[in-house]
Amino acid sequence: MISKKMKELVANSSAIRAMFEEGARLAKIYGAENVYDFSLGNPNVEAPAQVKQAVIDIVSKEDPLMLHGYMSNAGYEDVRETIAQSINRRFGTAFGVNNIIMTVGAAGGLNVILKTIIDPGDKVLTFAPFFGEYRNYVNNVNGTLEAVPPVLETFMPDMEKFEEMIQPDTKAVIINNPNNPTGVVYPTETIEKIAGILDKKQKEYGKSIYLISDEPYRELAYGGVEVPYLTKYYKNTIVGYSYSKSLSLPGDRIGYLVIPSEMDSYEDVFEGACVANRILGFVNAPSLIQRVAARCCEEKTDIDFYDENRKILYGALKEYGFDCVEPQGAFYLFVKSPVEDEREFCAAAKKHNLLIVEGRAFGCSGYVRLAYCVSRETVVNSLPAFKALAEEYGLI
Ligand code: PLP
Repeated sequence: MISKKMKELVANSSAIRAMFEEGARLAKIYGAENVYDFSLGNPNVEAPAQVKQAVIDIVSKEDPLMLHGYMSNAGYEDVRETIAQSINRRFGTAFGVNNIIMTVGAAGGLNVILKTIIDPGDKVLTFAPFFGEYRNYVNNVNGTLEAVPPVLETFMPDMEKFEEMIQPDTKAVIINNPNNPTGVVYPTETIEKIAGILDKKQKEYGKSIYLISDEPYRELAYGGVEVPYLTKYYKNTIVGYSYSKSLSLPGDRIGYLVIPSEMDSYEDVFEGACVANRILGFVNAPSLIQRVAARCCEEKTDIDFYDENRKILYGALKEYGFDCVEPQGAFYLFVKSPVEDEREFCAAAKKHNLLIVEGRAFGCSGYVRLAYCVSRETVVNSLPAFKALAEEYGLI
């Protein structure tokens, strides 16, 4: 007999994963080339060649006892120092080894920081639409997640609602930039407004409110759009980063947290996060891939590949009459469902072997998400199916 809480979680298990399983089932029936699976954010671009070379060099040249042994819960010091210096060079910050904790991907980092700062019953806000796993991460620490609604024309946060929703029990706000599922990049102006509201509310309630910036898509921004570095705008910011998308390493589970020295209760938060990393059972981020991350932290994935997919798919969907904001980052399109209940639309799409995810999984019904981190053939070959779907709904 499993726990009641787990039973509930299993019952509500991810719609995205369910779609992914469905894709595998359909591929067996129709052949993989005839199923257009836009359900999961699993990069289709291989990791840069430098990653493979780094693995070979590290395994063959480094001291195996050092490489495979236990270490500080925060991770290797030289790795953290290299990453801190890289961030400083790129974003004009001043971090050092004691501002970086290596984590088991962004998911590990988010769970670590929530474990560190959230008491049962504390409220955590995020901006809809949002990565659905935040519900589980906040639930893990018995906090309450509430989503600030967006302005639907732009998918920017509704600032008035945001201000209203910050209450004395609000402990943290999670922001994801560039955003999964909309592909929107929150510009500096939006970040400044968020920071201003948070500063005002901290003073009003006489407490710290932490801003957690979840940034696995930081490097995936198109057409030169700038993704602001949030610690520069709000001192109580914690950055959660991941190499899952930027180096195409989601299975290797590597990322880091940035905990700036100037934040309130810095020492407690940093120490707490080290302990959380240990007691959540991660102990430390995997050692080999930490060393690879340090060597490759300035390498780039093939952004042009995603950009081309984005242009082809966005252009075609607009031409077929679908309504969608132009994504500037990440690798997702968030499309308005032509019918109110987007589950009906997802089911209709499936009849054309198109696998897309319902917006309610991201706290935003009436929309669907397409992950375009797929092969070029999938994008190109799916277009007639999207066209047929548009015809079915009288969009063309
Ligand atoms: N945050 C967002 C917004 C994501 O989209 C994802 C993965 O898709 C994650 C966190 C988790 O990333 P990781 O694989 O690094 O744990």
